[in-house]
Amino acid sequence: MDLRATAEAPSAPHLRDRNDIPDRFKWNLTHIFSDWHEWQTAYDELEAKISKYAALQGTLKQGAEHVLAAMKLSDEIGQLTYKVWYFASLRYDEDQRDNQINAKRQQVQILFAKASQASAWFNPELLAIPLPTIQKWMAASADLAVYRFALEDLYRQQEHVLDDKGERLLSLSSRFSSSPNDSYSALSTADVCFPTVTLPSGGEVTLTYGQYRAILATHRNQADRATAFTEFHELYTANINTYASLYHGVLQRDWFHSQARDYRTTLDAALHGNNIPPAVVENLIETTKAGTDPLRRYHRLRKRVLGLDTYHVYDTTIPLVDFDRKYAYDDVLEWLPASVEPLGRDYQAQMREGLASGWIDVYENPGKRSGAYSAPVYGVHPYMLLNYNDTLDAVFTLAHEMGHSMHTLLSNAHQPFVYSAYTIFVAEVASTLSEALFLEFMLARATDDRDKIVLLQHAIDGIVSTFYTQVMFADYELQAHRLVESDRPVTADGLGDIYFTLMKAYHGDAIDYDDLSRVTWARIPHFFSTPYYVYQYATCFASSAQLMKQLTTGSDTDRSTAIERYLALLKAGGSDHPMTLLQRAGVDLSKPEPVRAVVDQLDDLVTQLETAIDHLKPRSM
Ligand SMILES: [Zn+2]
Repeated sequence: MDLRATAEAPSAPHLRDRNDIPDRFKWNLTHIFSDWHEWQTAYDELEAKISKYAALQGTLKQGAEHVLAAMKLSDEIGQLTYKVWYFASLRYDEDQRDNQINAKRQQVQILFAKASQASAWFNPELLAIPLPTIQKWMAASADLAVYRFALEDLYRQQEHVLDDKGERLLSLSSRFSSSPNDSYSALSTADVCFPTVTLPSGGEVTLTYGQYRAILATHRNQADRATAFTEFHELYTANINTYASLYHGVLQRDWFHSQARDYRTTLDAALHGNNIPPAVVENLIETTKAGTDPLRRYHRLRKRVLGLDTYHVYDTTIPLVDFDRKYAYDDVLEWLPASVEPLGRDYQAQMREGLASGWIDVYENPGKRSGAYSAPVYGVHPYMLLNYNDTLDAVFTLAHEMGHSMHTLLSNAHQPFVYSAYTIFVAEVASTLSEALFLEFMLARATDDRDKIVLLQHAIDGIVSTFYTQVMFADYELQAHRLVESDRPVTADGLGDIYFTLMKAYHGDAIDYDDLSRVTWARIPHFFSTPYYVYQYATCFASSAQLMKQLTTGSDTDRSTAIERYLALLKAGGSDHPMTLLQRAGVDLSKPEPVRAVVDQLDDLVTQLETAIDHLKPRSM
C-alpha cells in the first residue's frame, strides 16, 4: 500500500528476461507448493472443505461444540485459501501475459464466490442465538473462548443491521449505489480526451495524469509546469457541473445508508466497522490545522531555494537539487537490518533471515506487475514484490514493504489464525515506522550535504503527501457530507469554495493561489470511490510518529518499555479493535499528542533542511 504514486518513469533500456535474473533476486514460491500438481490437490481439498462448511447450516443452536466446529472449519478454509490464492496470484504477477496462469487465478476467484455463498448462513444463524448464551458457552469451553473477540464483534456490528425486510430493501439499492463512482470513472478515465500540449520550453506532450505529475517533478522551467497545471485543470473545469452532480450522488447515497441504518451522521457510519470514535477524526483535523507552521516554512524555503518570484501548487514537487545517486540492492540489504537496531536483536535477526530466504522478487522483467506490495501468505511467510530500480524511492519502498512483512511475520507467529490479519488502521503504522527508522539511519551516515538535502526532501514530501494532504482531504469530505446532512445545496461553486478555503487554511500566504485550484476536488478519485477512507493514512502516520518519538528518545528504561509495547502491537495482529491495540502501545488518537508528534517531526526535518541548504550555498545548487 503506497499513496505516493511515482511519476511516470521512462521504461528501462535493458529489461532482462526473467530467466536471466539470478535466483537470489527472485522469490521462491516452492515454499508454498512445489508445483501446479500440488496446488491442484490443495485446490480440490479447499473445494471439499467449502462443501463441508455449507453442510453445517442449521447446527449452531445445538451447542458450543457445533459453533466451535464451524469456527475451526472456517479457519482451515481460510488458511488453505491463502496458499491456493497466493500461489496462483504471485505466479501471475511474475508475468501477467501468461494466460494459463491467469486462468488458474480466475479459477480461485470463482471458488471464492462459491465460498462466500456457502458461508452466508453463518452470521444470521449465530445472531439468532442470544449473546448471553454464546458467552455461557465460551465460559465453559476454552477452545471456543479463543473466538471471543470475533464473535462478540459480530453482535456489536449487529446494532445497525435491519430486519429481513429492511435488509432486503437495502440490498436492492446496492445495485445502483456504485453508479456515481462508475460514472465518475467513465467521465474522468474512459471518456476523457487528454489534451496534447506544446510546452513553453518546446516539445509536445499528451497530458495524462502520469505525464502531468512527471512534468511537475522534472521540468525546471516554471512556465512548463504552469502550462501543464492550467491545461490539466481545464479538463476538469470543462465538466465541473457534471463532476459536482456525481459527487452530490455519492454524498446523498452515503447519507441515505447512514439514515437507513440509524446512524447519527455519515462519519459515524463510516467509523462503526472499526469501532473508531468520531472524535478521532475531528481531533485529527483540528490539531493538524493548528500545526501548519512547519508546512508553511517548508514552502517558503522552497520558494527561496528555487529562486522563484511567485510560488504555486505546481512548484511544490520539483526537487530542490539535482541528484542521480544509485543505491545498489546489495548495499540496502545491509542497511535495512542495521536501521531497525532500535527494535532489538531478535527483530533484526528475523529481518536478515527474511531478506536472504526467497521472500522478495526484486527486479522488473517483461510482463511483471508494476508497483510494490507485501503479500501475507499465512502458513508460509510474507512475500514482497518490488520493481527495484536503484533510486531512493525504490529503497524507501523496500523499507515500507519490509515493515508490512515484519508485521505479518510477528502477527502470524503470535496470533491464532482468526486474528492473524490486521486492519489498514494499524497496517500503515508498521510500514511508516520502518521508513522513519530507515531515514534516521541514512541521515546519520550521510556526509554529503546534497545527500542530506535529498533525504530530507524525500521525508518531508512523504509527510506532506501522506499526512497533511490526507487530513485536508478528510476535512473536505467531512464538510461536503455535512452539506447534505443539514439539507444544504451541493453545487460546483460550493464544493470549490470548501476546497479553496481549506487550501488557504493550510498554506496561508506561503503559496500563490490560482483560481483553477478550486476544481482540484474533482480529480481526487478517493472522494468518489472510497469516502472517509484516506484519513486512516494520516492516523497511521500520526501513530507511527508518536511511537518513533517514544522509541528513540527518553531514558533507557523508557525506550525498552516502548520497544516492548511496539512489538506487542505488531504481535497483536487483529485481535482487538485498532484503537484499543494502539492505546496499549501508548498511542491515544483521541488526544492531540500523536498529531503533534508529526508536526514536531516536520518542524525538525525542515530545520535540518535549512541547515543543510545553508552549508551547500557556497557551491552551486
Ligand atoms: Zn503500505
